[in-house]
Amino acid sequence: MKTAMMETRRLYYEDVYTKEFEAEVLECRPLGKKYAVVLDKSAFYPEGGGQPSDTGFLNETAVSEVHEKDGELLHYTAEEIPAGTRVRGVIDWDRRFDLMQQHSGEHMVSGLVHAAYGYDNVGFHMGSDVITIDFNGPLTEEQLLEIEDQVNERIWENKEVRIWYPGPEELKALPYRSKKELTGDVRIVEFPGVDLCACCGTHVARTGEIGMVKLLSVVRFREGVRVEMISGRRVLQYLQMVSTQNHQVSVLLSAKPHETAKAVQHMQEENFSLRGRLQHMEAESFAAEAEKYEGKGDVLLFKPEMEADAVRRLTDAVMHTCGGRCAVFSKNPDGSFKYAMGQIDGDLRTLTKEMNAALDGRGGGKPFFVQGSVKAEEQAIRDFFSVRQTTD
Ligand SMILES: [Zn+2]
Repeated sequence: MKTAMMETRRLYYEDVYTKEFEAEVLECRPLGKKYAVVLDKSAFYPEGGGQPSDTGFLNETAVSEVHEKDGELLHYTAEEIPAGTRVRGVIDWDRRFDLMQQHSGEHMVSGLVHAAYGYDNVGFHMGSDVITIDFNGPLTEEQLLEIEDQVNERIWENKEVRIWYPGPEELKALPYRSKKELTGDVRIVEFPGVDLCACCGTHVARTGEIGMVKLLSVVRFREGVRVEMISGRRVLQYLQMVSTQNHQVSVLLSAKPHETAKAVQHMQEENFSLRGRLQHMEAESFAAEAEKYEGKGDVLLFKPEMEADAVRRLTDAVMHTCGGRCAVFSKNPDGSFKYAMGQIDGDLRTLTKEMNAALDGRGGGKPFFVQGSVKAEEQAIRDFFSVRQTTD
């Protein structure tokens, strides 16, 4: 049986700053494990137009989501609230005001981009971290900075946001943005001189309340670009996070806060040159080692912590002089060993398989050269090789 539609007075359209209200439960329908509560009036904004729904409480009962279905405003709760109950509704105002800042910031950016480049906002997502807007045309990082400067100038003009329902004639003459063909009463939202858009969302009353907009990035997306942005309190939180990070880096590198990138670059160059010197010294030491094992047949070496590439290079050097099989093991910080093993014209496949099985190892490679790691003690490795000599 289809129940008659229950009308709810939308307090968020009368005063978007309504945080608390008194209402009566008209109906409470079981909905799977939840209930859908219909009220005679409500300040809870439902999910719609890319904006997530409000959350909050009806008396002591939490409202997890609010949806608009077939013209009805449904408050989802985990507990039943019988029809006729008088309730005090409280919405999570921090969450809602954040969404109003993000949504209003998005209007101003979309409006400015539309005016300057003629692009449409063709996709919009309000995440819990960042807002993304997809535009159907290209934007460079320089252009993004220009838009960011402009949008903040316009925010600080602190103009009143106008919302109204124009008649059909007036509507026809208005150059407003809209994602779809609209029928019936069209709600027009104007950020004066910046954006004119058909929208049923919640917005700040004056642009100054957006505080600030930060455009974080622009990447190519489909035929256009995807812009990541944040507004309001999220800009402050972002600035605090970035500032803390930069302060830590600045202390670690003994660099001024505005010179950390230069200091990192300097450190990278130094690191690169040190690596070069290390490789050179290793090459000399590996050559000396290769000379030491000249004609010695099978060689088994244990080395303190070395990088996998150095283990490979040492093995390669010694296998070219020893005349047998060379295996090099180097201990990792976790106690396991990395290894490389090689023999000119050798076939180490069977031996490697046996070793991986006996010493809890993994790895492989070419028949004459393998690399990997084992989780075993040095003595166990020595024992494994002592009974597998190929030369005397
Ligand atoms: Zn809007």
